[in-house]
Amino acid sequence: MNESLLKGAKHNLINALREKNIANEQVLQAFDKVDRHLFLQETFLYNEAYQDKALPIGCGQTISAPSTVAFQTQLLEVSSTDRIMEIGTGSGFQAAILFAMGAQVYTIERQADLFRQTKSLFERLRINPAVFYGDGFRGLPQFAPFEKIIVTCGAPHIPENLLKQLKINGIMVIPVGDSRQTMKRIVKTDETSYKVTDFGDFNFVPMLQSTVYLK
Ligand code: SAH
Repeated sequence: MNESLLKGAKHNLINALREKNIANEQVLQAFDKVDRHLFLQETFLYNEAYQDKALPIGCGQTISAPSTVAFQTQLLEVSSTDRIMEIGTGSGFQAAILFAMGAQVYTIERQADLFRQTKSLFERLRINPAVFYGDGFRGLPQFAPFEKIIVTCGAPHIPENLLKQLKINGIMVIPVGDSRQTMKRIVKTDETSYKVTDFGDFNFVPMLQSTVYLK
């Protein structure tokens, strides 16, 4: 894609996000910095990379629509001092957006092929969210607690381990439900109390229990 086409496509996408009530300028700037087409494999989808659509990324998984990525990122209230854990690395696009906002990103994927692909993509792009092959239901206790946690697959319930790995005053954004999910923002108010707010219905690929265990 030549530079001016790319610029135009991103500009249109950012306007579309503004129309969908994404008002956080840092989130919008991150969409300007990150080239979404680099996170898609099928070259025939090249033109679609900057439309507000979810797209296949192989292994039966999808990269979320830009407005969904932007919405979750906005709910997370990212600051550049945050350490953020993501469950569901997939294409790596969401992790790259958080990284572009200055956060330290730890992301977990349960599918070995996607894990390998995305880890080597980050190396090629010279960006370094830390990528882990493992089970999102377990999280990353060795790096906890996190200021923020974002789950990008549909969780059957709110995993207890993830709540434990969230800092007090930390925020977790997680879609919860089976065939459709309700987006929930959870603020940890003390060691055992949480404030939960619902933000509408979404459609994610499922968060699956994994046979992979972290060492
Ligand atoms: N954030 C990704 C979205 C990918 S779709 C992106 O920006 O492209 C959700 C991903 O969650 C899939 O790759 C799927 O394999 C992964 N996933 C599902 N259950 C998981 C689990 N228990 N632990 C870690 N990853 C999981």
